[in-house]
Amino acid sequence: MKHIIILGDGMADHQVASLGNQTLLQYARPEYMNMLAREGRTGRLVTVPEGFPPGSEVANTAILGYDLNKVYEGRGPLEAASIGYEMADDDFAIRCNIITLEDGKIITHNGGNLETEDARQLIAYLNQHLGSERVKFICGIQYRHLLVIKGGNKHIICNPPHDHPNEPWRPLLVKADPSAPSAPSAPLSPQATADLLNDLIVRSQELLAKHPYNLAKAAKGERQANSIWPWSGGYRPSMQTLMEQYPQIKSGAVISAVDLIQGIGKYAGLRIIKVPGATGLANTNYEGKAQAAIDALRTDDFVFVHVEATDEAGHDGDIDLKLKAIDYLDKRLIKPIYEAVQQMDEPVCIAILPDHPTPVELRIHVNEPVPFIIWYPGITPDDVQHYDETSCVNGSYGLLRLHEFLEEFMSV
Ligand SMILES: [Zn+2]
Repeated sequence: MKHIIILGDGMADHQVASLGNQTLLQYARPEYMNMLAREGRTGRLVTVPEGFPPGSEVANTAILGYDLNKVYEGRGPLEAASIGYEMADDDFAIRCNIITLEDGKIITHNGGNLETEDARQLIAYLNQHLGSERVKFICGIQYRHLLVIKGGNKHIICNPPHDHPNEPWRPLLVKADPSAPSAPSAPLSPQATADLLNDLIVRSQELLAKHPYNLAKAAKGERQANSIWPWSGGYRPSMQTLMEQYPQIKSGAVISAVDLIQGIGKYAGLRIIKVPGATGLANTNYEGKAQAAIDALRTDDFVFVHVEATDEAGHDGDIDLKLKAIDYLDKRLIKPIYEAVQQMDEPVCIAILPDHPTPVELRIHVNEPVPFIIWYPGITPDDVQHYDETSCVNGSYGLLRLHEFLEEFMSV
């Protein structure tokens, strides 16, 4: 049996009054998801362990069966994997936004919609002036980059810039974590790491203010990309690959437009398939992703397809867009995969689930169990007739927690 997980990020939702008190999945009536729920078995899954925020990187890591308390190292190391930077054991990798400051305040976390081409120049310039044996900037996508500190310590407190718009930046500088363990976990102390990062932040501002990109933006009265902002760092995760845990998986693949998800997949031992036109939005290349998944099922034993569009529509609070994203996921991704699987020699087990709800009326992630389907040829169905948040309460898998989902999924 081969295995494919199809994940609609943030797809689960709450009842909405304007939809007759139905959830979006109930209102959308997705044909293929409902069919797989009828013909397969369902349940609900707790995807966020206690003490963790309901972030996609947390929930997707749990869905792939990992114990967050053991493997979670923050965004930096995941983005390193997605960029293709091989972390050394003494590397501390931290996400490094390029942001916009005005009048001493954080104005945007995205540097005024900085484009990757422009960012490449800015990152090269920062490396030229601030880079050293110890400090290295690595270009990612748009405003999302990586800073690697050799010997840096992860026991520091950083502030994600998107959580602090219009706040003065100075009080938000990096601090040593007072609850850091007394045994040193890195050559640099937490305080030395915080001091180094803060020095880099201040010097990046002096340098970026003089860069031609920002001089041109200033002349046009547009937002500048005028400060680095590091947050969410960690060491190289020690994750056993899925192949090591499940001998029936000889090779596997991850398909996602999101760098964090690619990074989780990479540490899980999956190869990253980059699909042209995969954007993370409702205009994403569904057909391309479906085809890539079908091709991967011919060569690999395990495929993880992640679609971001449902989550983005949830954050936008756009009911129509989220309904459309659910419909596209159903008709343009699940349908072709389901049909192709019927023709394959080796049976394929399909799972469908979100990582967390992103309710359109709240516009943020919430920590609640998500509904899931597991289907394979010959499975004895349960009584659940629809794929939605309330029907799956009665599913025969009941309420699973964290790693229990992958164990069930891989047991067939
Ligand atoms: Zn989200």
